Amino acid sequence: MSPAFWNPKAETMSRDELAALQLARLQAVVKYARERSPFYRARMDRAGVKPGDIEMLEDARLLPFINKEDFRQAYPLEMLCVDRADLREMHMSSGSTGSPVAMAYNEADLDQWAECMARCYRMAGLTQGETIQITPSFGLFNGGFGFYHGARKAGMFIIPTGSGNTPRQIKLMNDFQVKGLMGVVSYGIRIMEVLQEQKNTIPSLKVGMFGAEAFSDSMREKIENGLGIEAFDIYGMTETGGVGTTGMDCHCHCGIHIWEDQYLVEIVDPASGKPLPDGQTGEIVFTSLARQAMPILRFKSGDLTRILTRQRCECGRTGLRMDRVTGRVDDMLIIKGVNFWPRQVEQALMEIPGVLSHYQIIVEENDGVKDLRINVEAEPGVTGFTVEKHLKERLGFSPKGDVFPPGSLPRQEGKAVRVVHENNGQKA
Ligand SMILES: [Zn+2]
Repeated sequence: MSPAFWNPKAETMSRDELAALQLARLQAVVKYARERSPFYRARMDRAGVKPGDIEMLEDARLLPFINKEDFRQAYPLEMLCVDRADLREMHMSSGSTGSPVAMAYNEADLDQWAECMARCYRMAGLTQGETIQITPSFGLFNGGFGFYHGARKAGMFIIPTGSGNTPRQIKLMNDFQVKGLMGVVSYGIRIMEVLQEQKNTIPSLKVGMFGAEAFSDSMREKIENGLGIEAFDIYGMTETGGVGTTGMDCHCHCGIHIWEDQYLVEIVDPASGKPLPDGQTGEIVFTSLARQAMPILRFKSGDLTRILTRQRCECGRTGLRMDRVTGRVDDMLIIKGVNFWPRQVEQALMEIPGVLSHYQIIVEENDGVKDLRINVEAEPGVTGFTVEKHLKERLGFSPKGDVFPPGSLPRQEGKAVRVVHENNGQKA
């Protein structure tokens, strides 16, 4: 078997085989969720849909959507479909508002997660016995343990540093000849900066797998050049079962392969919920096909993307490819009548020569009128005028741009806070 695949059968099966498998699994999970979960039973009854109504894949559209708010209301374990005694682990994400979102796993779910992650490692060219460093924290956030479970399954040598202490992270990478760096992209940038200060390199490092933050192509280029690695965009969220559960891009970097034997995806109009054709950007909706403790049926993720193609990829995989996430439904900014997402600002900023990777988008609201200010770090010679002019060309309006010397904007250890909201001069 080719070393390029962890599970060649699942990753390269024909679209017809895949569709048949998806339908059988969809029918089974709908029946299972209705029988085991009062939450899903009530939802299906209210929508007037019975498991027997699912005769083809398109019939998934008969099922009602669930969303983040449902997860919050079902906190902690209202959606559970297995005995509590069968639970083995849980992870949680805390939104900015309301109750957190909790996801519980039984043994089979942990194995499903590890399977998806093992596929991602192999897709990135990391094979048995190679060394990886896991930099997200080991705790409620799913990142640390997700990388860990998958690496255990794939038989890798794991350095579980968790977050923080960047100089020690760099030392360990060099001492143990680390080949793969696992984390969030903003932490990769942080490592790059410390390496520059130290006038140091990590020659063994070849691969970075970055999740939890949407990043632009120009940011990818920066981190690949800065660390001398190939960067992969790994995808997954608490509700789908954590990092890597839904997919990653392959060496051709022509979209994120979805593990379609594990998840059924749809792209819908975020407002109306109507299905959108391939190629059109909308909200991605997930149905888990093999999860047991807390399966998800038609989960509206809030992530905006589009399906690029369902053709077999040059890597041999047949799972459809989606575009990298453009933004979140609830992150869209409307300033002076122009709609855009923070990632478009990032893309535009990174195109300006001399502009560095740290920036902040500040949405100022003064008596109900919204305006935008961009703080960005840049090398000497880049002026606020240059930044404003380029943003005007790319975004169609002109935010105020303030340029700061390298290292002067605030840093976070975890996910970067790129958008700051201010109300009449106060942090909102
Ligand atoms: Zn591919």
